Amino acid sequence: MNRTRPVIAIDGPAGVGKSTTARVLAQRLGYVLVDTGALYRGVALAARDRGISWDDEEAIVTLSGEVALSLEPGADGTPRLTIDGVDRADEIRRPEISAGASRVSAYPGVRRALLDIQRSLGRDGGVVLEGRDIGTVVFPDAEVKLFLTASAEERARRRARDLQDRGMTADKNQILSQIRSRDKADSTRPIAPLRPAEDAVILDSTSLDLDAVVEHVLELVRSCDSSGSPGGSTGPTVG
Ligand code: C5P
Repeated sequence: MNRTRPVIAIDGPAGVGKSTTARVLAQRLGYVLVDTGALYRGVALAARDRGISWDDEEAIVTLSGEVALSLEPGADGTPRLTIDGVDRADEIRRPEISAGASRVSAYPGVRRALLDIQRSLGRDGGVVLEGRDIGTVVFPDAEVKLFLTASAEERARRRARDLQDRGMTADKNQILSQIRSRDKADSTRPIAPLRPAEDAVILDSTSLDLDAVVEHVLELVRSCDSSGSPGGSTGPTVG
């Protein structure tokens, strides 16, 4: 693999802080940020737009190969999902779309359709990808692999706060039960189940703040630089 800058893979369950961690890391390193969950959410939302049931595997797989999904940098540099050229970044965050994304992501044909997009976005390195199977399937050769975990209760608390910050209503108990059922669906599906790669660093963030998690990953990037693998003198200046 001929990358001059690393691919950073961040995987883990819903609400664990992957998005915030990935965003801050990408900013600190000057890397591209790829939120792969947004693509699965985009398929779920596009299906709802067209009146296609999330249970109709054949129609969903066809749709995932046809719909134009793109991640475009927003005003603050954070990528925003567009579907057929229209910004849908806020709508894909709705809780019912989370459930739909979990449903459609279990279809092998959908995962195949989205694999090429994800690989082409990360191919040249200098990228932070966050999702469920980045270190295991999308970039098994990623130079830095982090698997974030945290208790379901802590994740529900963070998700509720996040929704409230976006001006949406949030029922913590409902979010907790949604998180538990998504965890179950994501980790028991036969294809690309949520699990750490064998060579991933596993970090429990239940009692760590964002800075501590980011610092941990920056340390991993530094050590991959100094080992002479990707990066070297052209690598990022960290710190
Ligand atoms: O990360 P986010 O919560 O936005 O992802 C929404 C859903 O998309 C997840 O619950 C999961 O089912 C699916 N997903 C996936 N593989 C990824 C990213 C997300 O299966 N790489």
